[in-house]
Amino acid sequence: MSTAPRFAVDAMLGRLARWLRMLGYDASYDAALADPVLVQRANAQGRVLLTRDRLLLRELKPQRAVEIRHDQPLQQLAAVVEALSLRPPHPATHFTRCLLCNTPLEAVPGGDALHLLPAGVLDVPGPVRRCPTCARVYWEGSHVRRMRDAVEQVLPGWGGFEANWRDNDGGASK
Ligand SMILES: [Zn+2]
Repeated sequence: MSTAPRFAVDAMLGRLARWLRMLGYDASYDAALADPVLVQRANAQGRVLLTRDRLLLRELKPQRAVEIRHDQPLQQLAAVVEALSLRPPHPATHFTRCLLCNTPLEAVPGGDALHLLPAGVLDVPGPVRRCPTCARVYWEGSHVRRMRDAVEQVLPGWGGFEANWRDNDGGASK
C-alpha cells in the first residue's frame, strides 16, 4: 500500500474519482478549486494529477500527471491503470474509502451495524463500514457487487473477487 499512488482529480472527472476510491486509492476531488491551486496542491502532496485539460497540462506543468482522453469513467480508470502500470490492489483495500468524500472508512462493530442497514438487510457477507466525515454507510450489498462486476469487465482481475485474486496471485489472500 505504501507504494500506491495518490491522485488529484480535476473537476471534470468526478466519477473517475469514485472508481479510484472504490479500489482504495486516495483520490482528492474538489470541483471548486481553481486550476493553479489544484496543480499546486497536487505537487505539494505528491499526487498524480488526472485531467482532461491539455491547456492546464501545458501552462501549469504539474509534476506528475496523466492526461485522460476517454469519456467513459471506467475507460478512464483503465487508462490510468495502463499509464501508471498499476497492479490490482488487494481486495481488502476495496471500499475502505468513502466514495463521496475520500475519507478512510471506519469499521462498524457487528452489533451496531444492523441498526445502520436498511430494513430487510439482515446478513451481509463482509464488514459494514461508515464514513466518519459524511456518515455514509457501506456494506457488501448488491450495489457493491455491481460495481465490482463493472470493474471486472473493464479490468479483469480488478473486481476484488477473492477467487480471482487467489488464482491470479498465488494465494496472497487468506
Ligand atoms: Zn464520506
